[in-house]
Amino acid sequence: MRKEKDYRELLERLIRETIEKRGIKDRRVLEALRSIPRHLFIPGGDLELAYSDHPVPIGYGQTISQPYMVAYMLKELELEPHHKVLEIGTGSGYNAALLSKLAKEVYTVEYVPELARRAKNILTKLGIDNVHVFVGDGSLGLPEYAPYDRIIVTCSAPQIPEPLVSQLKTNGILLVPVNEGYYDMLKKVRKLENGKIEVYDLMPCAFVPMRGAYGF
Ligand code: SAH
Repeated sequence: MRKEKDYRELLERLIRETIEKRGIKDRRVLEALRSIPRHLFIPGGDLELAYSDHPVPIGYGQTISQPYMVAYMLKELELEPHHKVLEIGTGSGYNAALLSKLAKEVYTVEYVPELARRAKNILTKLGIDNVHVFVGDGSLGLPEYAPYDRIIVTCSAPQIPEPLVSQLKTNGILLVPVNEGYYDMLKKVRKLENGKIEVYDLMPCAFVPMRGAYGF
């Protein structure tokens, strides 16, 4: 089928010319990117739009993140196949689909019920059965299934949300964009043996604002 072939070529070009060239060499992350068709998560499914390095609107004022940023965050999460992961901000479900290839179980929380429903449908169609989609305020985490090996937040918070730190395992990693005025700073948080955290600033970025109790 022509469309199938076109998407594979465009995806391959995006991975080679943008993601690999900008320094992401993690084999498991690149393999995951190759296995998920991004255009299926974009309303209308436009191939040019889906396979260029930009965020794309998905309705309800929200966006699917830029592919480079998605790949960068997945690399920095240091995922292992046995991990239990929590994602805040399901959005289109694309990042959750990638996480499903890199970890054992994925729990993802979305504030907008319509987006959660749409994401769930696509994930089911793709035969992905280790992603569990929840509607709710992810700024509170998802205590029912805590603790998590990794937590990834794909909207920007006013500060590092305390409930997420408490739901993280010892030695776990939390990635969260924190708003610092004109831009967001992507922060990598490690939970130490003594329960304290170590925080590193990775890079400036731009995400939609987090809503809810610990949001804006
Ligand atoms: N990871 C997504 C992109 C997410 S965009 C993808 O791959 O497409 C950010 C999402 O965070 C939006 O869908 C927004 O509705 C959601 N969001 C904002 N505040 C939230 C909150 N408190 N809890 C859960 N989701 C939230």
